[in-house]
Amino acid sequence: GKLGIALVGLGGYSGGQLAPALQETQYCYLAGIVTGTPSKAVEWKQRYNIPDRNIYNYQTFDKIKDNKDIDIVYVVLPNALHAEYVIKAAKAGKHVICEKPMAITVEDCDRMIAACKEAGKMLSIGYRLHFEPHNMEIMRIGQKKQFGSIKRLIAENGFSGAGGWRLDKQLAGGGPLMDVGIYCVQGCRYTTGIEPVAVWAQEGPKTDPDKFRSVEESLTWQMEFPNGIIAECKTSYAQSMNVLRAEAENGWAELSPAFAYGGINGKTSKGDLNFGQVNQQARQMDDFAQAIVNNRPTPVPGEMGRQDVKILQAIYQAMQSGERTTI
Ligand code: NAD
Repeated sequence: GKLGIALVGLGGYSGGQLAPALQETQYCYLAGIVTGTPSKAVEWKQRYNIPDRNIYNYQTFDKIKDNKDIDIVYVVLPNALHAEYVIKAAKAGKHVICEKPMAITVEDCDRMIAACKEAGKMLSIGYRLHFEPHNMEIMRIGQKKQFGSIKRLIAENGFSGAGGWRLDKQLAGGGPLMDVGIYCVQGCRYTTGIEPVAVWAQEGPKTDPDKFRSVEESLTWQMEFPNGIIAECKTSYAQSMNVLRAEAENGWAELSPAFAYGGINGKTSKGDLNFGQVNQQARQMDDFAQAIVNNRPTPVPGEMGRQDVKILQAIYQAMQSGERTTI
């Protein structure tokens, strides 16, 4: 049968993307929910036919260990709360999916990885683009050097209209870099298949200093990879941007939008990419369910999430110091 997933935190991403995706999955299904809001429990129970025994709040969460319907706990809370709930889920004997960014410190990532290892449970991060065909193609083009060695990368991701916990450093760990700039870091890593060695970063001006009291409004940064590859990156909570471009010796590839839930568009120097659109989250969750059943590694493990958090921390350090910061 299908593996049962419990979503923890029924906000925008759970309600708008994950629950609908779980209506399309073949190897897992929406078995349970964890919510602090009683009215959401009632609404989700009716909409998704969730039995009372699979509905938890944050006080009863630990009882999930006795529930055989739940195989996987999916943590979809504000960033700073990921560590606590991933560790609780592992201690309850469940496999875990954790949303990006994995946590707000590398130390938290280490504790999360250790807890899952100790429990003998798998941990994956919600990196949906690893299952999106255009992004998979730019990985192939870059890693297999289809246009020769990459020289330069451009990665930009921003939107306007962020609110709530995303503007609170305590809960978010930072501003647009933590939330959407992380896709630029990911994109450059999966396009090259190698790791950046150093970064520089420049905070943008605050056009709304009151709104952006505790986090950056925008940020540009550069990542230096081995072999002289330079990535030029931008993120913002004041400007829409969505592009991943790789320039190589004998050609180029560009996705725009690159990181959206759908409508991904790809071009290369040899012509357009036409792969059609998929339900990224359904593929991501199905892949994790199959990894569990077949006892094979996930392509998006906790270690990958940890490396991104490590790079994000180096970018903030470079932003503060104004200096080249090694990773
Ligand atoms: P959201 O604000 O819409 O939802 C957050 C949920 O957490 C809400 O239901 C809120 O009630 C609950 N919550 C529990 N404790 C809370 C607390 N102490 N403070 C504030 N809220 C609390 O946020 P979201 O957009 O659903 O994001 C949730 C997570 O999912 C984040 O880590 C985010 O980065 C990630 N996310 C990932 C993607 C993706 O494409 N992979 C997209 C959106 C969000």
